[in-house]
Amino acid sequence: MNVFTITYWGVTGTLTTPLRAAEVTDKLVAALQWLIEHDRLADLRPGPDLEAKLRRRLEEELPFPLRSSYGGNTTCVEVQTPDALLILDCGSGFRELGMALAARWQSKDAQRIAHVLVTHAHIDHICAMPYFLPYYDPNNHFSIYGSPEALHSLSALFDPQSELSRRYFPPTFEQMKALKEFRPILPGSAFKIGSTHIRTHALTHPGGCLAYRLENAGRVFVFATDHEQVEAPDRGLMEFARDADLFYTEGQYTRGEYEGRENIGASPALPRYGWGHSSVEACVCTAVAAGVRELHLGHRDPARSDEDIARLEAFLRQRLREELGRAGRAEDSCRARVVHEGLVVRC
Ligand SMILES: [Zn+2]
Ligand SMILES: [Zn+2]
Repeated sequence: MNVFTITYWGVTGTLTTPLRAAEVTDKLVAALQWLIEHDRLADLRPGPDLEAKLRRRLEEELPFPLRSSYGGNTTCVEVQTPDALLILDCGSGFRELGMALAARWQSKDAQRIAHVLVTHAHIDHICAMPYFLPYYDPNNHFSIYGSPEALHSLSALFDPQSELSRRYFPPTFEQMKALKEFRPILPGSAFKIGSTHIRTHALTHPGGCLAYRLENAGRVFVFATDHEQVEAPDRGLMEFARDADLFYTEGQYTRGEYEGRENIGASPALPRYGWGHSSVEACVCTAVAAGVRELHLGHRDPARSDEDIARLEAFLRQRLREELGRAGRAEDSCRARVVHEGLVVRC
């Protein structure tokens, strides 16, 4: 039985990346061209049900990158457990989650409690901290968990006594009345939120980063973003993600891009060793070695267009088939996808 409901509010890596105006036009042209070439417009006529018919046709038939986008918000993932609301990271997607929560929590019986688990303080993972509406309502209750270094970085930015407060963001913790508690968490530690058991693991990333493993009623969700796998499989991550039902990690590059043999979209080819990110090939190798049942890749490189990501997803699935074959495992024993903003999954 599924116990976690996971909503991806932001899955872009490094920098918030809105669609450019020219990309919107390109999508419209490509979508219309596809519909005309497949003769999927000629039977439609103006009328009260035209919009519903068009919407259904687009959603059911048009390839994803033509009708939508993987999204440009940086990392924020909502996890509803049987008895707690957890939020992983406060990238720009956190702002949109905040608007949704403010609306949800209008209801009289709303609990108004959530736990924010920060992986690290790089700007793409905390940039929406002060733009989260529910922090400003004293009736809400938030606890923030993170490594001592990550919590220290947040204090440096938002503690009203800090020299840097108000320098990068106007508000301070003083205005965020709903922030009630800060919980330092060390790598390799274990704790509980409600009925969910949580363990952490130190990832390889400049400045450090924490991965979180959530377990409840036999279901396991592992969230491991911003990590450079310097061996494949990555033995530490493999043990940490062992037998997970869902393993979210980041494959920002292909091996060719990581090694500097291939460019990423318009971004030139250059070696990316030590930048703290992994190749898709390494992610697949570690996921198969760990025996996970589903692999989700996020933290997409901002230089990649939606079309590029769709190609990367096809490459991911091809590599997974090959790796499962090498391991002598059935093709359907593990699935993989590149996640997009707005995606909701249960595990
Ligand atoms: Zn990042
Ligand atoms: Zn980072």
